[in-house]
Amino acid sequence: MAEGRSRATWAEVDLSAVRHNVGVLCRLVAPADLCAVVKADGYGHGAAAVARAALDGGASMVAVALGDEGEELRRAGIRAPVLVLSEQPAASAPAVVAAGLTPTLYTLGGVAAMAAAAEAAGTVVPVHVKVDTGMHRVGADPAAVPAVVAAVAAAPSLRLEGLFTHLAVADGPSDEDAEYTALQLDRFDAVTAALAGQGVGVTLRHAANSAGAIAWARSRYDMVRCGIAVYGQPPSPSLAHLAGDLRPVLSLRSRVSAVRVLDAGERPSYGRVRPLPERSVVATVPIGYADGLARRLQPAGGEVLIGGRRRPLAGTVTMDQIVVDCGPDDPVRPGDEVVLLGRQGDAEVTAAEWAQRLGTITYEVLCGIGPRVPRVIVDPERGRS
Ligand SMILES: *Cc1c(COP(=O)(O)O)cnc(C)c1O
Repeated sequence: MAEGRSRATWAEVDLSAVRHNVGVLCRLVAPADLCAVVKADGYGHGAAAVARAALDGGASMVAVALGDEGEELRRAGIRAPVLVLSEQPAASAPAVVAAGLTPTLYTLGGVAAMAAAAEAAGTVVPVHVKVDTGMHRVGADPAAVPAVVAAVAAAPSLRLEGLFTHLAVADGPSDEDAEYTALQLDRFDAVTAALAGQGVGVTLRHAANSAGAIAWARSRYDMVRCGIAVYGQPPSPSLAHLAGDLRPVLSLRSRVSAVRVLDAGERPSYGRVRPLPERSVVATVPIGYADGLARRLQPAGGEVLIGGRRRPLAGTVTMDQIVVDCGPDDPVRPGDEVVLLGRQGDAEVTAAEWAQRLGTITYEVLCGIGPRVPRVIVDPERGRS
């Protein structure tokens, strides 16, 4: 796998799992389309490989956060529509047009810059207008949407393709969360009705992230924008039971680099924080917090898999390496595979487990896997790796 590299640590990215998850989601939301969100390098998985597999699995479009990310997909040969989820700085409009991306607009200045760039390029650019129905991050206020839409309609170089919003608590477990999601969708419907009253029809309306797509049938409209579920993770623990049979796409793996036997009471690694309960085999593994294995995981009880069994960390996580307590008389040897995230035999450590221990969400765990970790693409269903 990562053989021949300077370090036996890698993240395995399973494209057959991407296609499977996209298929599960497409069947769930049909007749709505699915846009696969591949921002932040595909949530740490590798944007181009995931985009290709998602399109292959039935996604109709992909989405990114930044124009730069869209340009990178074009350079990688992705030709499908690429939606940029937030309005970009006016100065980058020519680059967005040149790359053939689908911009999101919500200010009159943004519309003017994009119209000028499209006109200069002699092309007509499809655009999506984003409405702030309650997330309060980006988007036009509902009252301002008609003016933004009118400015798009008045620009011969722009074509209004989509109208969308973003949900703040679609993954929330409480009644208050549910009421807020319903309120956001009511506001979105009111904007559509107001536009229809002015004779403006929108072909592509979308509101749902993964949580909306899974838990809020009403939010599916013409398309859903799924990120985390494409990667095989339920959007939140409270939605795990509704998420269907999503398969985790990424596993994080390494190999034991050294083994030593230490007496009971020895306290390996920085700070000497944890005494070995008995004379034990301690394995060193070349992955650390610079790779996204959070230092807080050790005091939080984090475990890794070696030989198909869970093992506690024997001491503080360092920048490049960890030590693992394998207990007495363990046959662990240098070169043995270590699973930090994923399955080994019948045992599994999930991103949700890390997230729960670390007081965060799976999104941050996955995006936190550092650039120093090579992504190894595998595709077991197609017999390639
Ligand atoms: C990131 C993002 C999504 C995807 O959200 P998930 O919860 O990962 O499905 C959808 N829409 C917008 C606007 C986003 O920023």
